[in-house]
Amino acid sequence: MSVSGFIRVQALRLVATVGEMMRLYDTAEGSVVPLKLRDPGKIGMYVCGPTVYAPPHIGHGRQVLVYDVLRRFLEWSGLDVTFVSNVTDIDDNIIKRGLAEGRDPAEIAIKCEAIWWQVMDQINVRRPDHIPHATEYVEEMVELIQTLIGQDKAYVTADGVYLSVEEVDGYGLLAHQDLDNLLEGGGEREVVGSEKRHPADFVLWKFAKSGEPEWSSPWGPGRPGWHTECVVMSLDLLGEGFDLHTGGLDLTFPHHENERAQAVALGREFASHWMHHGFVETDGEKMSKSLGNVTNMLDLIEQYDHRAYRLLVLQSHYRTPMEVTGASMVASETALDRLDTFVRRTSVLDKVEVPDALVERFRTVMEEDFDTPGAIDLLFRQVREANSALDDGDELRAAGAAAAVHLIAEVLGLELGADEDDVPAEIQAMAEERQSARAAKDFARADELRDELHSLGWTIEDGAGGPEVRRA
Ligand SMILES: [Zn+2]
Repeated sequence: MSVSGFIRVQALRLVATVGEMMRLYDTAEGSVVPLKLRDPGKIGMYVCGPTVYAPPHIGHGRQVLVYDVLRRFLEWSGLDVTFVSNVTDIDDNIIKRGLAEGRDPAEIAIKCEAIWWQVMDQINVRRPDHIPHATEYVEEMVELIQTLIGQDKAYVTADGVYLSVEEVDGYGLLAHQDLDNLLEGGGEREVVGSEKRHPADFVLWKFAKSGEPEWSSPWGPGRPGWHTECVVMSLDLLGEGFDLHTGGLDLTFPHHENERAQAVALGREFASHWMHHGFVETDGEKMSKSLGNVTNMLDLIEQYDHRAYRLLVLQSHYRTPMEVTGASMVASETALDRLDTFVRRTSVLDKVEVPDALVERFRTVMEEDFDTPGAIDLLFRQVREANSALDDGDELRAAGAAAAVHLIAEVLGLELGADEDDVPAEIQAMAEERQSARAAKDFARADELRDELHSLGWTIEDGAGGPEVRRA
């Protein structure tokens, strides 16, 4: 199609349908629904962020990658995205670790958060527009709890302040169960030894035990409950009736249910849509053997190409459970090698616009419940299409397909075309060792190293300027 045709189609979409075609599975609705936006052309999304007491694990990795790609796609669609993700920097786990190690919990939170951002940078996850910290919002949380107590929807006990869930209309909306069923279905049943009025009531403010960090409140020194920070921060930064609240499936109940309950109790409009992503399966026997128990992101990106996990995450639909194995990581690296090789092969082609039909196909696939596996499939089909066009000598067709590959990869945050000379340090070290072995006339050892490199996917060519290591 002509360039003017391309521009016309783009412009029509900008005027009429920016972001309005996106459909997502809404947990509250229990079905795939069009994303209705509060303000046309704008979307506010809130992602429950990390509790910083340990390095990010591969479950966190999936989360940040899913929403990083969603954000990139929505922006590419023309929406003005405000992306908020909090950091829980005070919590039982942080305190527990501090006590166990004789360290200040605040110090643990600061160090773990630094590691978090280091990993995010390494895997090309963009920083949120706002990163509210729980400890910065204590005053606002105290105010919220005070209001709820004033309305008789929260009450003080010996160990803290609780929300009375019986005062909340529609409690159980996200879990799709009413209060009685929730309790029977594995809700918190333990009321013995507690002054809770109802077993599902949850804590808004915890009184501090001796030696624990504390903030002052009208009811006594303590710290806010986890469910309260996200309500206060999301409403403060995104406003009432913000568009999209997201997180892992495990947060649906009780965390998100309880966030929503507080907003409902206050009579404030909360998130319009709820999106949850599936688990990463890490604890199967098969998994731990093949991946060598790599479950934290630091180890994962040390052992594999930092882009490999992004590609793997994109190959699973966000709602399905995802199994990570050593074999799947290696397969992902191999696929990336193929893409890099493709990008180098096609770099000599003229730059052309992505054909309209391909732009629309990519958009349609992604707009239907964020079908990233469909987008990856489309990407590889364009690689095959371009390669076969090149084999046929049809450079124009190849250039169009190659442009589509670049577009899709860019929107998905996949950096392609890694330099061929980008040789990992351990490979370089092996190549140098081989060179020393040759210099010492230990040809048996030199051959052994060459074979070992070959089995790792590298070849050595002995050129005029010395040996050169390349991907096989
Ligand atoms: Zn939250």
